[in-house]
Amino acid sequence: MAGGNTRSLLVHLPELIEVQRLASHGAKGLVRVQELTMVRHKDLSLPVLAIEFGSQDPKAPVFFLTAGVHGLERIGTRVVISYLKTLTNMAHWDPSTKALLSRVRFSVIPIINPVGMYLGRRSNGNGVDLMRNAPIEADHKSGISIAAGHRISNHLPWFRGVEGSGMEIEAKAMISYFEENFAKSTSVVALDVHSGFGAVDRLWFPYARTKQPFPNLREIFQLTHLLDRVYPHHIYNVEPQSGSYTTHGDLWDYLYDRRREAQGSTFIPLTLELGSWLWIKKNPRQLFSALGIFNPLLPHRTSRILRRHLHLLDFLLRAAAAPEAWSKGHGILHDAEEVERMARARWYNGIAA
Ligand SMILES: [Zn+2]
Repeated sequence: MAGGNTRSLLVHLPELIEVQRLASHGAKGLVRVQELTMVRHKDLSLPVLAIEFGSQDPKAPVFFLTAGVHGLERIGTRVVISYLKTLTNMAHWDPSTKALLSRVRFSVIPIINPVGMYLGRRSNGNGVDLMRNAPIEADHKSGISIAAGHRISNHLPWFRGVEGSGMEIEAKAMISYFEENFAKSTSVVALDVHSGFGAVDRLWFPYARTKQPFPNLREIFQLTHLLDRVYPHHIYNVEPQSGSYTTHGDLWDYLYDRRREAQGSTFIPLTLELGSWLWIKKNPRQLFSALGIFNPLLPHRTSRILRRHLHLLDFLLRAAAAPEAWSKGHGILHDAEEVERMARARWYNGIAA
């Protein structure tokens, strides 16, 4: 499947071997695997794989879990793999896990940028930052930093790609997969796992391009309300991404706007940004390693991170399977205007609708 030999994958991309191992559960009827594209770079040739569990009904609600957009942020992929192992092992014997999966389509791309991860860098093989690569311009061009995305050179991080050259193969593969497979679904919850920003774990919702309120604010508020009730001691700061910084070219902004224009079904794209500054504070030597800024390096700390997010992923799978608990016209908070007002007060200093 992968062009690199197994030994070089074991050294540079063991995560792909783990994903392929998970894919072998296909033989037991648990998963379906699709190769979305093959990414070539020099003598490397690595697949972008999607693994699907559960319902095959095109209208079924979807939970779409992704990681590895930034190749340096391996811990995100490892968090996802850790959850998939738990789920596949549960699905072998637990009737309630099987029943849950019969109601939801659970689709996972654990490594969107395999070449970047193999090479140990943020960008893809062409030096393009895949999360700055969509044809989306941020609201305020002046006053935002180079980290918002730029077209200066692919030798600098956050490069958006050459003007007019279209999106990169990995981004295109992810977008086509999303649009071809989930077009008929009435609701989609997505979670994209990253690491490296801040000292707390953040759960971001759109937009990245503007500080304007996100149109599905009521749904986000109700989902957050459920999370707060189910796990009152959870560790996440739920907030709009633009509260931390705005960027050009965000893939989720792009997908969100396209889907909204096309059909108005509920789509909630979330980003989990693991706050790696915590690990650095506990082990400052990590600052001297590029990998260490984005990943915990000590084994006990890695295990802790892999355990820490299982509850969230499980919650989101269950919430995705039960859109009636939080989506349009439903939910446990009944007064829609009141929900909107509370959401704006919480996240946008009360900006009026
Ligand atoms: Zn990232």
